[in-house]
Amino acid sequence: MNGAITQAMTGLAAGEAKLGHLATDELDATHGVVLYLENITVSFDGFKALDNLSLAIDVGELRCVIGPNGAGKTTMMDVITGKTRPDSGTVFFGQTIDLTQFSEAEIAHAGIGRKFQKPTIFEHHSVFENLELAMKTDKRVHKTLFAKLVPEERRRIAETLALIRLEDCVVRAAGLLSHGQKQWLEIGMLLMQEPKLLLLDEPVAGMSDEETERTAELFQSLAGKHSLVVVEHDMQFIEKIARKVTVLHEGSVLAEGPMEQVRNDPRVIEVYLGR
Ligand code: ADP
Ligand code: MG
Repeated sequence: MNGAITQAMTGLAAGEAKLGHLATDELDATHGVVLYLENITVSFDGFKALDNLSLAIDVGELRCVIGPNGAGKTTMMDVITGKTRPDSGTVFFGQTIDLTQFSEAEIAHAGIGRKFQKPTIFEHHSVFENLELAMKTDKRVHKTLFAKLVPEERRRIAETLALIRLEDCVVRAAGLLSHGQKQWLEIGMLLMQEPKLLLLDEPVAGMSDEETERTAELFQSLAGKHSLVVVEHDMQFIEKIARKVTVLHEGSVLAEGPMEQVRNDPRVIEVYLGR
């Protein structure tokens, strides 16, 4: 992205930010970019966890972010979601919204979903109920308290159940699911909220080989339809799902490009893959 566009975006953002609120329908991704981090620096007691990091994610892209422990991957997600404020730099959601001006709740509401390692599912509710509860409803009328699901909502739940392969566990209490199934349920719950961007930090950690394989298939089926940023250590998993890969090292981008290219990059082999 060139400087002129960046400047124009910054100008617009100043106005947006003053509104102090953010709605999903404000996202302007007309240039095909859903997220644009520019020159982000985050210091913890003088140590730069992110060091002038710049990164752009296209609409519908499945981006894998890899890199050694401490490279700044989780901090990057914390900055995008408003959990950590950068010392400097901007985070644009679409063309006009500078996320550094908004709270965590506002950013989530605007359509950025994040999956944490420990799933936040309702253990005592069934799989179906978990998806139902996750669905965006009109909070003003407390619809879920008394209204029946409309056919469209049932269709969406059925579609998600198929995608996350929990069709055979619809009435099972979420707490009784396997580790992998719980992770899929949480991904399903995030999808029910129709996020504009989904961030997943180490989604296959602790999964069996078979669960990892199934998760790779799930992510492949999401690519193109959703914008996803996946941080993961499991290189077998990354190899299966990767299109474009970003390698973080010491808080900035060491290499970026198609998996085939990144895998053979001598710098990447030196600091990460060769170890
Ligand atoms: P990654 O997810 O790539 O392993 P992190 O983003 O978790 O890396 O961490 C990057 C660096 O920042 C690490 O050196 C880590 O110790 C440091 N760090 C992360 N969060 C904090 C914090 N809240 N306070 C101090 N240091 C932190
Ligand atoms: Mg991490």
